[in-house]
Amino acid sequence: MPGITLYHPRIFITNYMDSIDARQTLAKQGYHLFGSGAVKPCLWLNRALRGGDQCYKHHFYGISSHRCVQMTPTLECNQLCLHCWRPIEDPVPEPKEWTEPDILLEGILREQQRLLSGYGGAKTTDMSRLAEAQSPRHVAISLMGEPTIYPYLKELIDLIAQKGMTSFLVSNGTHPDIIADLSPTQLYVSLNASDEETYRHVSQPSGDFWPKIMETLHLLKEHSCRSVVRMTLAKDLNMQRPEDFSRLLAAFEPDFIEVKAYMHLGRSRKRLARGAMPEHSEIVNFAKALGEGMGYEFAAEVPLSRVALLSSGRVSGSICR
Ligand code: SF4
Repeated sequence: MPGITLYHPRIFITNYMDSIDARQTLAKQGYHLFGSGAVKPCLWLNRALRGGDQCYKHHFYGISSHRCVQMTPTLECNQLCLHCWRPIEDPVPEPKEWTEPDILLEGILREQQRLLSGYGGAKTTDMSRLAEAQSPRHVAISLMGEPTIYPYLKELIDLIAQKGMTSFLVSNGTHPDIIADLSPTQLYVSLNASDEETYRHVSQPSGDFWPKIMETLHLLKEHSCRSVVRMTLAKDLNMQRPEDFSRLLAAFEPDFIEVKAYMHLGRSRKRLARGAMPEHSEIVNFAKALGEGMGYEFAAEVPLSRVALLSSGRVSGSICR
């Protein structure tokens, strides 16, 4: 009788404590929590601010890592992907109240400023990049959780555009009805298997989502924004037959396909062996075979990130205006 046990005070306290524990874990790992969401400086922002190289999104799409805000409007996810580096085993329960999108965006941008302030006094900081970083140009809605669970996602994306920033939305594709209505600068749909059985094994979904993901992929052909299918590949898990992915994806005609190696990082180390991490050359070979099967051009690669980009040739790579 879930309706009764939910109100049992011990259960309530346990849930409350779980929530606090999960949030504390995230805070310790460098997540700056705000309302129902969070922002976290990625390692590429750190490198860029020290005058170093920038992330593959810079090489593929022209995004400056030091002007990118990596955030999420929700900490919840409806999958438990084996390759996920985030602390998904400690689920954060749905908040009692979702943070309104304008308050959330202001809070996230403020937190980003706060985390940047730590670079001001360091001798290693590239001061011209730090000055640029004060005015972010891009929001990557991709940090943790499934963003389509957040009920004001459309409003949030529209607010980002109103502030003159571009947005990348990364979704696992489980809510096609919501995706259909969104207009980020670039829409990513993750696809980590070419058949339902492998998908269930790799992503451990909390519902019957494979048909929903197929529905989302069907939307890409007609969607108004640039579209990317992103796949994260691990050896002996989901990178056996590129031709199966080609056959599946050919009908959906995404603008780009990003083929990324699983990286043995964070919590994923408890689920997958180090040997599951493909070499960059293996990613390139897989991407080339996939692209040949679809007539997509091999457009770019970043060996350090073990990622390759395939392009349909319909839109230009750079999003910079
Ligand atoms: S969908 Fe994304 S956030 Fe959720 S478990 Fe999979 S990789 Fe992690």
